[in-house]
Amino acid sequence: MKKSEITLTTLPTGQALTAPVFTFEGSDRNAPSVYIQASLHGSEVQGNAVIYHLWEYCNAHPPTGDITVVPLCNPYGISRKAGEYTAGRFDPTTGDNWNRTYVDFTPEAKTFKHEGDVASLKKAFRAYMLSALDNKIKAGLDTAQLIAARLQQMTLNADLVLDLHTGEVSDRHLYAPSYTLDSTQYFNVPFVLSIDNGFDGATDEAVFCPWWTLAQARNLDVKHFGVEAFTLEVGSQEMINFDAAKIDAEGIVEYLKHQGALEGDAIKTTMKQTVRTLDNYKTFHAPTGGLVEYAVEPGEHLEAGQVFARILNINHYGTEKCFTNCVLDYPAIAILRYSSAVVPEGAQLYRFFKK
Ligand SMILES: [Zn+2]
Repeated sequence: MKKSEITLTTLPTGQALTAPVFTFEGSDRNAPSVYIQASLHGSEVQGNAVIYHLWEYCNAHPPTGDITVVPLCNPYGISRKAGEYTAGRFDPTTGDNWNRTYVDFTPEAKTFKHEGDVASLKKAFRAYMLSALDNKIKAGLDTAQLIAARLQQMTLNADLVLDLHTGEVSDRHLYAPSYTLDSTQYFNVPFVLSIDNGFDGATDEAVFCPWWTLAQARNLDVKHFGVEAFTLEVGSQEMINFDAAKIDAEGIVEYLKHQGALEGDAIKTTMKQTVRTLDNYKTFHAPTGGLVEYAVEPGEHLEAGQVFARILNINHYGTEKCFTNCVLDYPAIAILRYSSAVVPEGAQLYRFFKK
């Protein structure tokens, strides 16, 4: 295992802002390479507990594929505290979500010219993206774009990419491109979101969308490229739980065995997995501002018409408008909820899997 540092940006103090990078060199040059990062959003730290267990595993069981791990990949984000709260979701200088500023190479994937087999096409397109990304960095990017681009350089060099996030108060769930639904059965997650080829600036999309688009433009099966990328939401923000993290790390180990990046026979998860497409992943916005009592926790099932939260408006004490009951007109499973009892109208109060 080698430890190095990546320079992400230069602070106003003139000092480099760096993040530690751990690299386990694989024993087999033909095995897939792996990149895993955590805490792109500063308050989402549970991935570091997952990485701790993975790090221990890789130390005891040297991998066959190269594994690069960047635990605190956005030190800028995690350092933005407001009181005891970690305000690490957005670049405070531009307002950009840290996970929406990756460079999109899907337009180039549609028109990329290359003659040769899949292996040489993969090599050529990867080299093209890395060189184009380098040119974009040299041409000048804003802070959030720059940090993303420097992380993207590492993700583009890997075949398998895992970006570890959390929800606010959340059960564990996995964003998976629809062509990877065989692979998702190795992760220890109860909920899987199957997503299409659509780029919205996130780490995982910046990896799989260009390859998917390249494959579609050439009528190839994207699986031939051997590139997969996931966003794994490993629980709730602002907390660390090593026992829960071990379960996630064990699933990742089985996935990496399945892909040949670690040695051993992979075992599918024994967890019941519920898979939904994004159009069955529903957001419930707070219908009014106020103070919320949450009656349903992530992972719980609810019936149509069941009150899952009620919002107190103190201006209406003594009237029937004092409480606003929140209900759905369909049965659902709660995946995540807002973390605070203090909500403005329109806040993303819950997200649900439609049953
Ligand atoms: Zn996140």
